Amino acid sequence: MSWDFSTEPEFEEKLRWMRGFVREKVTPLEVLDCDDATFMRIIRDLRQEVKAQGLWATHLPPELGGQGFGQVKLGLMHEVEGETYWAPWIFGNQAPDSGNGEILALVGTEEQKRRWLFPLLGGELVSAFSMTEPENAGSDPTRLSTTAVLDGDEWVINGHKWFSSNAMGADFLIAMVVSEPDAPPHHRASMIIVPRDAPGLDVVRNVPTLVGEGRFGHGEPEVYYRDCRVPKENLLGRRGQGFEIAQMRLGPGRIHHCMRWIGQANRAFRMLCERAVQRELGGERLADKQTIQNWIADSRAEIEAARLLTLKAAWVMDTQGVKAARTDISIIKFFGAKVLHDVIDRALQAHGGLGFSGDVPLERMYRWARAARLVDGADEVHRVSVARRLLRDVEAPEGIWPSEHVPTRAAAAAEQYRSYLARQAKVEA
Ligand SMILES: Cc1cc2nc3c(=O)[nH]c(=O)nc-3n(C[C@H](O)[C@H](O)[C@H](O)COP(=O)(O)OP(=O)(O)OC[C@H]3O[C@@H](n4cnc5c(N)ncnc54)[C@H](O)[C@@H]3O)c2cc1C
Repeated sequence: MSWDFSTEPEFEEKLRWMRGFVREKVTPLEVLDCDDATFMRIIRDLRQEVKAQGLWATHLPPELGGQGFGQVKLGLMHEVEGETYWAPWIFGNQAPDSGNGEILALVGTEEQKRRWLFPLLGGELVSAFSMTEPENAGSDPTRLSTTAVLDGDEWVINGHKWFSSNAMGADFLIAMVVSEPDAPPHHRASMIIVPRDAPGLDVVRNVPTLVGEGRFGHGEPEVYYRDCRVPKENLLGRRGQGFEIAQMRLGPGRIHHCMRWIGQANRAFRMLCERAVQRELGGERLADKQTIQNWIADSRAEIEAARLLTLKAAWVMDTQGVKAARTDISIIKFFGAKVLHDVIDRALQAHGGLGFSGDVPLERMYRWARAARLVDGADEVHRVSVARRLLRDVEAPEGIWPSEHVPTRAAAAAEQYRSYLARQAKVEA
């Protein structure tokens, strides 16, 4: 099978514009010292520039303002956005708003789109996705225990969630809840829109984490739903469709995540190389030490491999659909997260104390790289699902040698051994 990741010259021009814009105007936001209101004003201005280029919220279908780019092109754009934390915000692609926007676009009613999606796309609303529960393994979401019961015209939600990213300042949450307790495991859950001011919704705190709180109080909140009431029209899609919707949403989202990781890894790689040629000790440069040369060579090879795997997953998705791309998507999730972590780790190490300090972005990148191994499903879950799918059609060979994959010599030796055993049996008889 041959893959084709090439894009037309007009699109290459857009990527070139994005690269310049991100480096010159977005990356400096990392160190901008100003209050939230001023910061938001600057973001608004930058968003206008992006909109003028037709590059705002491109992950959406064309009827909602997206460009109808396939996943390969979107992936290449996310690679550029991955360079710096704020770029997805400026391009209308920040998680979890982008994923929630996709859910609303996919299954939202006209009224839900009017009330929630369009203002979300306009950057007027902030949203959260509320699935993970402290008491149950998020890696097995069929165990969710937050319930939603229909009472007249309202859903009554009871449960306890955490890591509902950005819920503290969100205008609404999309909650994954058990509404069909008697259905088969993957048909029990539904998604329901919960406005931030719904009675019974209590966002109690930002859980302290390795990455801490961001601007606008963004973080990982703990949330209680205590007889929380929302109109029955807030159900997204059908009752029991929660897992199906999650699958539709997560495929493209993971490709975008992984390509952003490539962008981030590339930035760390550039810093590693610059440090290597700049720092001198013991009469030579770091770049002249074999350990550092190994790090540089390994990092380049790993980034290229992760990039090609991710573009391949995007290409499979574009040409054969999300179902055909499931194994590729799981592979890039855990492989990409590891590459991101390892490259940043080497760059940080090569910078010594400076790398560990907040004077350069590596320590922050490192903390987020650690989160990458957990978000979007822990790496182990993806490894397990890849292995299961790969092993599904493998049959156990008869005898001790997997005949068709074993060198002839081994097969011949096995044959000799079998006839030896047969002769022995005859002698003994
Ligand atoms: C920064 C950040 C942001 C997040 N944002 C959100 C959000 O917006 N909304 C939301 O709902 N959740 C969010 N999460 C939660 C995240 O999705 C969960 O942490 C993740 O799914 C793991 O679930 P868990 O924490 O319950 O760990 P568990 O499911 O208890 O798993 C613990 C560990 O067990 C191991 N494990 C799991 N399954 C297997 C297996 N099959 N084989 C071997 N080992 C295994 C893994 O090492 C895993 O890390 C976020 C998490 C982080 C760190």
